[in-house]
Amino acid sequence: MTEGGGTRVVRTRAELREALASARRPVGLVPTMGWLHDGHRALMRRARSENGTTVATIFVNPRQFNLATDFTRYPRNEARDVAVCEAEGIDLVWAPPVEEVYPPGFDTTVSVGAIARPLEGAARPGHFDGVATVVSILFSLVGADRAYFGQKDAQQVMVIRQMARDLAIGTQVIACPTVREPDGLALSSRNVHLGPDQRVAAAALHRALMAARSAWEDGERSADRLRDIMWETLTAEPLAAPEYVSVADGVTLRELDRVEGPALLSLAVRFGETRLIDNEPLGTGDGTTPRA
Ligand code: AMP
Repeated sequence: MTEGGGTRVVRTRAELREALASARRPVGLVPTMGWLHDGHRALMRRARSENGTTVATIFVNPRQFNLATDFTRYPRNEARDVAVCEAEGIDLVWAPPVEEVYPPGFDTTVSVGAIARPLEGAARPGHFDGVATVVSILFSLVGADRAYFGQKDAQQVMVIRQMARDLAIGTQVIACPTVREPDGLALSSRNVHLGPDQRVAAAALHRALMAARSAWEDGERSADRLRDIMWETLTAEPLAAPEYVSVADGVTLRELDRVEGPALLSLAVRFGETRLIDNEPLGTGDGTTPRA
């Protein structure tokens, strides 16, 4: 916002509005739930390179957790997160208490249709309603020109694009490539819950996706065969309990019989109490899912 101004942390809607009133445009927004890692940092860097002002939000959104235990267990460390935002040159951090996001009497849910139903929508009832509701509040309060999301949560990007288009919100939704550990595990705040053996075993998610990708690159077009390859790779890992594997249309997320156009490989796997997801787009060229 201002040269050398450092990172300002605000809590209320009013402070956020006031801080943004004179912000240099364009404004880039990076919504997060904190416990920041290099995946978040990559979004922040991209936002910073493309915008006059960068805003990050740190808010563990209770409405997007379908399990209360998952919400209470979600890792939090605001001081460390603010230090990360400072290091990345973020201008403004909004870290609100729950009642600033959902004031007393709040009674609206943003519910996206077909694109939100399969995969994570089916596995986590209400999850995408919570995501779409909070992101529409963030878009509206920040008035961002651009918002940055990770391809790691591919369906989330598609749900948010649909929401922004349908509600005529002018914020451009930008998907950034998934940042991974050297063994392929996608960075995630939830990785902190993995025990040492589970952490090693968790590389199976990316292995499974890469095995299916490699079969597809060799000409395999049967979606069932690609699902089998992922399932077999995951079940070969004794600590992994796969929840689903999917080969879906890259635009609609409908399960495919044959992969003839852009597609999304995705999976969800449990390691004890910890649930991890990952995905790999096929046939889009740039590692991001195609726009609907
Ligand atoms: P979260 O704090 O987990 O809600 O994530 C905030 C944003 O960071 C979302 O847009 C995520 O998709 C994105 N993100 C999380 N993990 C990664 C990763 N490994 N690589 C890239 N983006 C990520």
